[in-house]
Amino acid sequence: MQQIPHFIDGKRIYDAERYGPVYNPATGEQEKEVAFASPARVDEAVAAAAQALPAWRSASLAKRSAVFYRVRQLLMERKSELAAILTSEHGKVLSDAEGEISRGLENIEFATGLSHMLKGERTEQASTGVDVHSIRQPVGVVACITPFNFPAMVPLWMIGSAIACGNTVLLKPSEKDPSSSLFIAEIFSEAGLPDGVLNVVQGDKEAVEHILDHPDVKAVSFVGSTPIARSIYSRAAASGKRVQALGGAKNHMVVLPDADLEMAADAAISAAYGSAGERCMAVSVVVAVGDIADDLVDAIRSRMGSLQIGAGTDASSEMGPLISAEHRDRVASYVKNAAAEGATVVVDGTEQQFDSDGFFIGVSLVDNVAPGMKVYDDEIFGPVLSVARVETYADAVRMVNENPYGNGAAIFTRDGGAARQFEFEAEAGMIGVNVPIPVPVGTYSFGGWKDSLFGDTHMYGPESIKFYTRGKIVTTRWPDPSTSKIDLGFPQVD
Ligand code: NAD
Repeated sequence: MQQIPHFIDGKRIYDAERYGPVYNPATGEQEKEVAFASPARVDEAVAAAAQALPAWRSASLAKRSAVFYRVRQLLMERKSELAAILTSEHGKVLSDAEGEISRGLENIEFATGLSHMLKGERTEQASTGVDVHSIRQPVGVVACITPFNFPAMVPLWMIGSAIACGNTVLLKPSEKDPSSSLFIAEIFSEAGLPDGVLNVVQGDKEAVEHILDHPDVKAVSFVGSTPIARSIYSRAAASGKRVQALGGAKNHMVVLPDADLEMAADAAISAAYGSAGERCMAVSVVVAVGDIADDLVDAIRSRMGSLQIGAGTDASSEMGPLISAEHRDRVASYVKNAAAEGATVVVDGTEQQFDSDGFFIGVSLVDNVAPGMKVYDDEIFGPVLSVARVETYADAVRMVNENPYGNGAAIFTRDGGAARQFEFEAEAGMIGVNVPIPVPVGTYSFGGWKDSLFGDTHMYGPESIKFYTRGKIVTTRWPDPSTSKIDLGFPQVD
């Protein structure tokens, strides 16, 4: 059985007291096992990161930036190798895996510009003969804890900016698909990142809790489900760390009566079933406004039959399996219970048969959903698209805003005024106008509102520079010695 190790201080470490299974979701077979870090292993990784910190934070910005240029080059050259790892452990189709890596690379490209991002401000003559300038310095050892659904992109969201800012990092990837983090860490090493700057600690809850309580870890970036994000936020904050904890989602796509219904149906299908719905920005609820609902449901249903579901390594597959058998059964249960809740199951994908023991499930469409039904209220995280029918634009916005999640929200319309109003009043962190999955490009930051993010700083892009640094303001005077005098009064600006 292939073993997946930790990567601490530039070395692979295989020893562990506990291991977890890693499956190939397309075959249903356990192909690997991953070492689980004990608290002592976490201590070792934190110590390695703490030891590497003084030299790395002293490295010139030019030297740091050069590492990112090389990382980018190496990741481009080895993209298909990394994509194959993603597909073998996560299940997503290879083209989608490559797309994920490309989106992650945006954060490495952003990090190459670190000398621009770390520029401070300077005020000359703030007071007579006194200048003031600001600098940003690293926070120290940073922990990055990531989910299974983007095993390359989400680590890249975090580690690029964290390392660029001069911090050293402990990356704790999902135990379900841990190999890509190891691959990425070794790429950084090959690109010249000094040992100990980026460490990968594999493991589960036990490792995470020890990281959260560790006094030498100064900041925590987390992405995962809402209940865990909420608990990570409070536990890490209780030990005095800064925290950004991104949670789950229930993303609404509002379709106004004037929208191009064919385009809206294509977008809904792509955004609901891509990556088998295991995306935090997946569209899970289409909100059909006015009398277009029947036509829109027909347009979506007519496209569903032709979707190719199969192993991610098969070039004809458009959608792969789910991450585990338990998750597949949980997803199926929402479709099975939907009719009893009062919804209409238009297409039941849970009945589809596959010639494989992989964790496959067909695509489902559930109409007439409403708040109060579990199929609407819960994040299903599978290929189940719900349709809610409302009378007016105002009803649609109310539904979006009353939902406890607030990651992304999209509107499909030809009416610029309606789109502008939606942008103004929709309570979500990322808005799409005729764009179903509005994941911001790497020069902006990513984050939701409400139960989709605990903390105040969004991830990657400009906000990440703020998160991974501490501000310092320096007030300077170079006085003429002849003007020196004693003055016990509080310094005044003059
Ligand atoms: P998860 O919350 O189960 O796990 C995330 C991380 O937390 C993993 O590293 C895991 O090992 C760790 N973890 C799990 N249980 C823990 C516990 N009890 N205590 C401490 N640590 C624990 O999430 P997942 O199933 O891996 O990922 C899917 C979820 O992530 C979905 O809810 C999805 O919406 C969300 N997600 C959100 C975003 C976003 O940007 N908001 C992006 C991607 C995924």
